[in-house]
Amino acid sequence: DTREAELHVSQLLEAVKRRNPGEFEFHQAVQEVLTSLVPVVAQKPAYAAHAVLERLVEPDRLLSFRVPWQDDAGRIRVNRGFRVQFSNAIGPYKGGLRFHPTVNASIVKFLGFEQIFKNTLTGQPIGGGKGGADFDPKGKSDFEIMRFCQSFMTELSKHIGPDTDVPAGDIGVGAREIGYLFGQYKKLAGAYEAGVLTGKDIGYGGSLGRKEATGYGAVYFVEEMLQHAGSGFRGSTVVVSGSGNVSIYAMEKAMQLGAKVVACSDSGGFVYHKEGLVLETIKRLKEVEGRRIADYVEAHPEALYVEGCDGIWTIPCEIALPCATQNEIGKTAAEALVLGGVRAIGEGANMPSTLEAIEVFQRSGVLFAPAKAANAGGVSVSALEMAQNSARLSWTMEEVDGRLQAIMHDIYRSCTEAAEAYGTPGNLVAGANIAGFVQVADAMIAQGI
Ligand code: GLU
Repeated sequence: DTREAELHVSQLLEAVKRRNPGEFEFHQAVQEVLTSLVPVVAQKPAYAAHAVLERLVEPDRLLSFRVPWQDDAGRIRVNRGFRVQFSNAIGPYKGGLRFHPTVNASIVKFLGFEQIFKNTLTGQPIGGGKGGADFDPKGKSDFEIMRFCQSFMTELSKHIGPDTDVPAGDIGVGAREIGYLFGQYKKLAGAYEAGVLTGKDIGYGGSLGRKEATGYGAVYFVEEMLQHAGSGFRGSTVVVSGSGNVSIYAMEKAMQLGAKVVACSDSGGFVYHKEGLVLETIKRLKEVEGRRIADYVEAHPEALYVEGCDGIWTIPCEIALPCATQNEIGKTAAEALVLGGVRAIGEGANMPSTLEAIEVFQRSGVLFAPAKAANAGGVSVSALEMAQNSARLSWTMEEVDGRLQAIMHDIYRSCTEAAEAYGTPGNLVAGANIAGFVQVADAMIAQGI
């Protein structure tokens, strides 16, 4: 019953905190998921009998390794690399690599844990994993990036493979890094295993539409959520944080659907262009010239640049798409958004809202599209890239985009149906967690301990 399930979940959460001291991001991700699962565990005693939750919160393995590399000055530097292989209940471990100075065990574990449920939601046969390094790509030369990627892969290659674990990009890892990682893997494996990494360039096994997939997918998902409430992106004012891959293509698709995007950001600050941002300028600065968002005002002096990131959420808007990083929206920012008239939030980044922020949105009746569901488009097209690699063919952009739209539509449906079935209609946070969980849990039981 419910009382028993509540006790079970709260005791497990305490155990997770005790066994993973100081890993606050991981605690947060686990808390959000476990809380949603109370009604599911209450209804199906098999989950408790098979200790499914206890098994899910402990990764299959967590790899941590030394990454030594030589900088351009000839100095030897050492970073720490990680790969967490969380669950392969429904397919090979799958998830990105993040290169950022904040990367640690807590960050890769929260990301890997989220990835289990996100990947299941896509309906594709992929398990959950994540990795990265505390390496800061900022200010590094191309050759330094290459040497770092080669050293990182020298160790990682022992643990991955097209049917074992398939990494991709995340913050700080794009097509360039994937290229260097793939080159090193190929040398060590002595074979052309295209499906060992996704996010490759189009010319050597990448998929059309992968670069756009996370951003486009998030907007498809939010559009569907809005349509059900009787509106859409058309004519609305939108704020998007970040200016990386996810952010740029979320802005592009929102604009294509008739929205006005007035602000975006990077780690230095944000730019506010009341008449609507010019995407070409942002693409040139970020994708071609590797410059800061502050430089946007050079081309558009009528726009405003503000240092620091929090202020972006005080800009009045109807739709906010946090596409930068975890916990970028806290309670105060959430309250500012509500005050500014926000109607919908679509999480493009992983876990960009704190638990307190989500509570503010839900209490205020703001439509909320959680990351697991809303940003699943990226990994969905990664799975499509794996499928194309296995079949040794490549689909057109129309084919990939059509499949992406269908997948995002199906994710929306599974989330709303799961929320409905377990007594929290309209709560997509619960719906995503439940729908993602059930398939993995049933596969775990079927396969034994
Ligand atoms: N890093 C992305 C995510 O958070 C994509 C992972 C992938 O394509 O494997 O889902």
